[in-house]
Amino acid sequence: MVLPLLWALAEKTDKQTKFVRVFSVLHVLGGVIEIGNKMLVVKFGGSSLANGEKIAKAAKMVAKKLKEGVRLVVVVSAMGKTTDKLLETVDSALGSKAKPADVDDILSMGERTSARIFSTALKSLGFKARYIDPQSEEWPIITDDSFMNAEPILDKSLDSIRRNLLPLLENGVTPVVPGFIGKTVDGRITTLGRGGSDTTAFLIAHALSADEIILATDVDGIMTADPKLVKDVRKIGELKVEELIGLTNSGKKFIHRKALRYKPEGIDVKIVNSARGDLDVDGTIIKGSFPRDLSASINESPVVAVTMVGKELSKASKVMLDLFSKLEEKGIDLLGMSIDHDSLIMYLPENAVRDVLEGFHEVVLKSDRVLALAVSPKLALIRVRGAYLSETPGVLNTVSEALYSQGLNIYGVFTITSSICLFVEWGRRVEALKTLEETIKQLRLEEEALRKDNKPLT
Ligand code: ASP
Ligand code: MG
Repeated sequence: MVLPLLWALAEKTDKQTKFVRVFSVLHVLGGVIEIGNKMLVVKFGGSSLANGEKIAKAAKMVAKKLKEGVRLVVVVSAMGKTTDKLLETVDSALGSKAKPADVDDILSMGERTSARIFSTALKSLGFKARYIDPQSEEWPIITDDSFMNAEPILDKSLDSIRRNLLPLLENGVTPVVPGFIGKTVDGRITTLGRGGSDTTAFLIAHALSADEIILATDVDGIMTADPKLVKDVRKIGELKVEELIGLTNSGKKFIHRKALRYKPEGIDVKIVNSARGDLDVDGTIIKGSFPRDLSASINESPVVAVTMVGKELSKASKVMLDLFSKLEEKGIDLLGMSIDHDSLIMYLPENAVRDVLEGFHEVVLKSDRVLALAVSPKLALIRVRGAYLSETPGVLNTVSEALYSQGLNIYGVFTITSSICLFVEWGRRVEALKTLEETIKQLRLEEEALRKDNKPLT
């Protein structure tokens, strides 16, 4: 009964793919019904595998979970700074003569070595483990041929992960997969770009509908601030991918941007410190996913910009406080704000601005720092968002040029975390949105082309 139904649902025409799909669904169903066991994907970063002692410790952490009956896939990075060293060596030996395909073949040795050691360590603890090598038939991560920054081919990889890893898991074998590595359809080794082993873990968890992804690293989680900059930092218990991206815009990368694009929506990622010696320790849980591509959206109701000019406004904390309390009194949402030395702009919902204008004006009269205020015409707030934004040079320029070419004036703009907020005339919002959507499509094509040129994302 289930079988014919699944067969009919697997919409791909060729028989082999269909077989694989049906088989995988049955496996997943089987797994759930039969044992109901938890399934984890655990990735150990290079710092957690920097020497033999650390590898042994990591293997024990995995062993503890296996003893509880948890099914687990282990993904490993290269030991310590191996990848950096390999890159430096290749560079000093060959310089620019190094061919990207050869570099990948060499770099892959870092992860392949640590995966071999790791699976041996697990076996020595009495567990069935299997090292998965990119040169074997059972290799699961399939990519395009952008060497040094390859992009996984999603459907092929997901199918292959299910086909090759599920039977092992069902037989109580723990697959140990070297992260960061891919293989082209015609069998050549690629790498996914720096930090790519997170991508490997995310893809595997996605394919297997894992319960959780654990990234074992050398910090206790994501902190309220960089401990190198601020005292008394605390660990953040939980945050959304979007918030994480906001934080990583300031330079510190917890998970590479490219990898985040592959984080499965419904599977949480827990960052833990492997020095604690236990995968059950608290860490930071990362939830949700981020839209893969740039997108533009419009605030459905009109907004206005209230501009205030004066002198040294940015120092006038009293003025700020007064303005904010006026907003709070009326329960008005501040949609955005820009400030510099002598002026400030607040973006407010148009239907609310009348309520607060008298109050704002009182602040103007009371403070000798503020000279006057002015209210813009009705504007539309358009948000261009995307995980890549801060890494893609020239987006702001491209966006404003596109609007300019249509004779659309930008009344205001600010960028924040992964968004550009633009204000255009309310009456021309549909036109503006359409122009931006076309521009985004163009940018996406250019990004594709860049990637094909092997420009690694850092
Ligand atoms: N070993 C690779 C790197 O250092 C991949 C990884 O660690 O995720 O970038
Ligand atoms: Mg590394």
